[in-house]
Amino acid sequence: MNILSGVYEKVVSKDSHELEFLQAVKEVFGSLEVVASNNPQYLKASIFERIVEPERQIIFRVPWVDDNGNVHINRGFRVQFNSAIGPYKGGLRFHPSVNLGIIKFLGFEQTFKNALTGLPIGGGKGGSDFDPKGKSDNEIMRFCQSFMTELYRHIGEDTDVPAGDIGVSAREIGYMYGMYKKLKNNFTGVFTGKGLVYGGSLARKEATGYGLCYFMDEYLLDNNKSFENALVIVSGSGNVAIHAALKASELGGKVIAMSDSSGVILDTNGINLPLLKQLKEVERKRIKEYLKYQPDATYFDEPKAIWNIKCDIALPCATQNEIDLESATNLVNNGCYAVGEGANMPTTLEAIRYLQNHNIMFAPAKAANAGGVATSALEMTQNSQRMSWSFAEVDKMLKNIMKNIYLNVSNTAKLYGKEGDLLVGANIAGFLKVAEAMYAQGII
Ligand code: NDP
Repeated sequence: MNILSGVYEKVVSKDSHELEFLQAVKEVFGSLEVVASNNPQYLKASIFERIVEPERQIIFRVPWVDDNGNVHINRGFRVQFNSAIGPYKGGLRFHPSVNLGIIKFLGFEQTFKNALTGLPIGGGKGGSDFDPKGKSDNEIMRFCQSFMTELYRHIGEDTDVPAGDIGVSAREIGYMYGMYKKLKNNFTGVFTGKGLVYGGSLARKEATGYGLCYFMDEYLLDNNKSFENALVIVSGSGNVAIHAALKASELGGKVIAMSDSSGVILDTNGINLPLLKQLKEVERKRIKEYLKYQPDATYFDEPKAIWNIKCDIALPCATQNEIDLESATNLVNNGCYAVGEGANMPTTLEAIRYLQNHNIMFAPAKAANAGGVATSALEMTQNSQRMSWSFAEVDKMLKNIMKNIYLNVSNTAKLYGKEGDLLVGANIAGFLKVAEAMYAQGII
């Protein structure tokens, strides 16, 4: 970073405590030096300074009452990051680790990811430090309703369209959508990831995990490899992880390990995915319970242990910074040849550099996990047309979108003299689209 280091330093001085946000900015700017020197008009119009500053940040109190009558206060966030190419679009995360820096990193990443989909959606993200784990359905409902009594005034089908993320699945979206509809007296596609009977899209639930595997499939084929007979490890066991594991195994891979925030299961026979889905998605149990039904499997009570397992392809699908330098070293030493990011920013900057320096194929999140938001945009289209498409139709569109994203990022990398570096390709291709729109729209 030379031309851009001054801009980055300004971000550091303003937001020094927002570590994940700084990491995301550093990662993107690390690829953009060449773009900055080729496009003096963007420097003159301060596009780089503007693109790191959210258009709007909303922080609000979320009071709710638990089943015993105790009052709790959580903090709610919505960061409307960039609307240059479409309405703000991005999920809501409910997790105790949520703070402004986490939401800003996610919103910043989302802006470029959404641009890569080729669809007209801007970037946003939101959530709360509320922990849904261990709460009753009624507590979840009361929290979601309280959250929505503030958020409803800031969103809308042409303004800002939230979706799910960690801790926010169909149940939470249902409660939030219900409250939105009641407050606005308006039935519109203001959320994506909705239930199928009230405007959701088939294949949305599957889209991020499936899309990741479609992307990896293209990438692997281009490098004379494939999922066929590959040993695959997938971190996490939530929405993205489960559907990535299912598609990887459908494409011929053998998924041998998965995890949750407590530990890792290793089943060298191949994980029984219907069982895992039942335990995690339906019964909301800990992953350790898998051993009750598959006693030959092994459990490690440290989530990071997954990266010590010998594999060909690693799909981090849990959370940010789960692969650090030590984990990346273990992956390389154990013969892993491809890493595909299903989660957002699951690999630290040092770990990315290490993997790339060791010629490991590396698929960055903003390209590889864009299938979820792309299918959300397809849900928005179906809602505005008052139509619903079949699973096969949506899945086909998703596959096509992922193929085009792969071609776009790999061609962009080649064009900028960085053939094979999909991180650079994704950052440049995403940035150029947003920057061009911002430039055309003047200083706003
Ligand atoms: P879920 O809440 O459905 O699942 C998250 C999973 O990750 C859970 O199994 C959770 O375990 C596990 N987990 C959390 N922290 C750790 C950790 N430190 N080590 C191991 N496992 C951990 O979330 P999603 O699947 O929706 O999201 C996962 C990632 O994918 C996030 O980074 C999200 O931003 C990203 N993403 C999601 C999209 C979507 O469509 N849902 C779209 C694009 C990106 P536990 O049950 O113990 O909490």
